[in-house]
Amino acid sequence: MGLTGLEIYKLLPKKNCKECGQPTCLAFAMQLAAGKASIDACPYVSEEAKAALGAASAPPIALVTIGTGEKALAIGDETVLFRHDKRFEHPPGLAILFPDNEGEEHLRQRLDSFRRLCFDRVGQIHCANMVALECRSGDPETFKAAVRLVTEATDWPLVLLSEEPEVQRAALSVAGEARPLIYAATKDNWEPMVALAKEFKVPLAVRGENLAALVELVGRVSGAGVTELVLDSGARHPSQVLADQTQIRRQALKRFRPLGFPTITFSTASDPAGRVAEATLAIAKYAGIVVLDSDDPAEVLPLVTLRLNLYTDPQKPIAVEPKIYEIGAVTPESPVFVTTNFSLTYFCVAADVEASRVPSYILTVDTDGTSVLTAWAAGKFTPEKIAQALNESGLAERIKHRKVVIPGGVAVLSGKLQELSGWEVLVGPRESAGIPAFLKQHWQSN
Ligand code: SF4
Repeated sequence: MGLTGLEIYKLLPKKNCKECGQPTCLAFAMQLAAGKASIDACPYVSEEAKAALGAASAPPIALVTIGTGEKALAIGDETVLFRHDKRFEHPPGLAILFPDNEGEEHLRQRLDSFRRLCFDRVGQIHCANMVALECRSGDPETFKAAVRLVTEATDWPLVLLSEEPEVQRAALSVAGEARPLIYAATKDNWEPMVALAKEFKVPLAVRGENLAALVELVGRVSGAGVTELVLDSGARHPSQVLADQTQIRRQALKRFRPLGFPTITFSTASDPAGRVAEATLAIAKYAGIVVLDSDDPAEVLPLVTLRLNLYTDPQKPIAVEPKIYEIGAVTPESPVFVTTNFSLTYFCVAADVEASRVPSYILTVDTDGTSVLTAWAAGKFTPEKIAQALNESGLAERIKHRKVVIPGGVAVLSGKLQELSGWEVLVGPRESAGIPAFLKQHWQSN
């Protein structure tokens, strides 16, 4: 158990200087106790107090990094049970399962398929981002060759699946520097697996036969000096996975240290709907890594989308950069649309402008990522702001006309905007789907 807020408060400097971002030392102590702040945010705390606060200020769920470089995956370091309390910080790795015993050519084809599992979602690229290679051959040399092929073909992080220490040693001899996750230490093999994790400095997955057995095994493994762990309670039936994943998160947040690590789950049902349902449950219920036995884009796309939706900040809309966007081969005669920088709004407008086949400029105004009517109601999409954005955009030097199209839902802004900007304001359709017809009717005759 960690320290309470009041116990932490007694160790703080009590200057109430606000430099930590909190109004008082007491407020900062409460944030620390809840695992929502780092002790490093206070520049005045003494080394002795830091040492005493170590356990309380450490995250309730350890941060574990798998892989290296730009594609390294960081999981764990979560602080809440419910996304609306704060936010979920580290999206789970979606690992595609490959066996090692289907031959080199087949493995190459699987890797080609894997590379295509990247999708554009509201302007961001999201991918299946791990390879889980399973030793089904039972042969260290076959597994080693497969691991070598995978590491040469991709720099996404790896999960190496084998409970045979000699098989893992062979794999780590070619992939150890890539910091793969080795899966798994069990009650039967944990000592040699711990030795491998320490020798190659890689994270280790620990699998128990149930939650109680997992707790006992984690105690032994962490007592032997391995601290970068990923947990598997051994559950495979969805109802038990749900129960275990929830219990692990609850206990971790209560700072029950043996369960304070990210988790790994497996979605291996024999039918696509079953696999997607299993993986959906795991993503929604705190998994750090979801291993999926399929590379079908139709299964991966909904999971990638779910992950994106759950791991965004619910209090922060997804926004695009407020700036001028060129759709198609624009010319000085091209129309200019103005809208807000809410991603969904921008991408709807961009898609409908593209569908019109009329190259156009879209100027997005910074409304903190809110949609047109929300921004207008909140005073963030005003004639003053639009006029300022138009003036600062440099559009006047790039186009010959002085006409701007505003969304039909805010037609009320047109008079004042025209007066402030000096541009002729055309009121566009209420829905962006009407843009092609609008341009046909109003622009080509301009
Ligand atoms: Fe207190 Fe330190 Fe925060 Fe200042 S920075 S208010 S001393 S906790």
